[in-house]
Amino acid sequence: MISLNGNYFSLKHTTTNQCWHISYVIFAMIVVSIISIASISCSADEDYGYVSYAEQELSTRADGMMKGGREIGPILPFPTVDEILANQAVRDTLLMIWEETKSLAGPTQRRELGVFIRYDRTSGHYFFGRINYGDTVGCSRRARIVVTPDYWEDRCAFFHTHTTLQYCSGVERTTIPTEEDTSLVNTLGIPGIVYDYNIDVLKGGMSKDMAWKAMKYGPDRRTN
Ligand SMILES: [Zn+2]
Repeated sequence: MISLNGNYFSLKHTTTNQCWHISYVIFAMIVVSIISIASISCSADEDYGYVSYAEQELSTRADGMMKGGREIGPILPFPTVDEILANQAVRDTLLMIWEETKSLAGPTQRRELGVFIRYDRTSGHYFFGRINYGDTVGCSRRARIVVTPDYWEDRCAFFHTHTTLQYCSGVERTTIPTEEDTSLVNTLGIPGIVYDYNIDVLKGGMSKDMAWKAMKYGPDRRTN
């Protein structure tokens, strides 16, 4: 009995120990759970804090841009189309593109060229995007250009050229921006500039080296 008792007590003791052991396990599990929850909360806080900080940094920069703050220097307004055309470096580049348009024209082919004019609102310098080449057409089709809207951040105008009819006898066209031309720049919210021949109606056979004119159309300056 004693032995049994002993065994009993021993068993009881063991049972008690097992109970304690289970309690420890449960306690440990609770502690681990609490630590896990705390650590999840911490990482969640850190993530949120990080995002929050990034947003704050962004809004600070935006304020700086709006107010001309010190962080990134004063932000200039986008130039008007007249200001763009008054820039000699811009005009030199536009003339070069006009000359290239003429040089690409031949007895069987004409193509328009177009480019986004870009403006650095911190330095006030102009840049150009890559040149878009319109489809090569003969005399039976109208020359046109399909533009990929690009350079969203700093585009300030879109420039393109119209083509010669020197090699196209018997046809004629008016020298004005087309409805498609105007529609494009209105959609993009930027001024349009087109170079065309300085005559109201261009007729087939007229020299491609005739005087040209610059025409403005669409918004006066970038609207967005
Ligand atoms: Zn056009």
